[in-house]
Amino acid sequence: MIERHIRDVPDFPKQGIVFKDITPMLQDPKAFLVCIDRLAESVVEYDFDLVCGIESRGFIFGATLACRLGKGFIPIRKPGKLPWKTAAQSYELEYGQDTIEIHLDAARRGQGILMVDDLLATGGTMAAGLELVRKIGGNPVACAFVIELAFLEGRKRLGNVPTSALIEY
Ligand code: AMP
Repeated sequence: MIERHIRDVPDFPKQGIVFKDITPMLQDPKAFLVCIDRLAESVVEYDFDLVCGIESRGFIFGATLACRLGKGFIPIRKPGKLPWKTAAQSYELEYGQDTIEIHLDAARRGQGILMVDDLLATGGTMAAGLELVRKIGGNPVACAFVIELAFLEGRKRLGNVPTSALIEY
């Protein structure tokens, strides 16, 4: 059902990348709701206090899911965006490096955190997100994605944190 609302955009943002565009799904209220419901089902076995999403498409799914489940939401953001005291984590990109940040008081020590992003590719972004949550004392209990590019084997970088995706390519 949701699969047919994902649009492939070849050569975006650069040559050779097939971008998985989720905006047609967001535009369709039924498909968006089904997606959030399926995400909720995929994490039903985990016990967590908060949902954490990574800027920026992780906010769309993470915050909506948090609201649906009656949980709070933690944003992980690009550098310089969060106004309070932050922890930072850098990670390698294909060319160069990127950094993400979280508020130091986003979670209390030992709180269970569900990690959410739209898509798992090489796993570098989510691996950095897991590090960041651990740095502030949170306990990542699972990772949930809408899409996984399984051939890139990003799961291997997420250690033993249980990981699920609604659609695999
Ligand atoms: P990675 O760190 O390689 O797992 O990349 C994951 C991040 O990059 C996610 O936040 C995705 O939104 C984005 N991303 C990577 N590859 C794609 C793709 N083919 N289509 C859409 N988004 C992508």
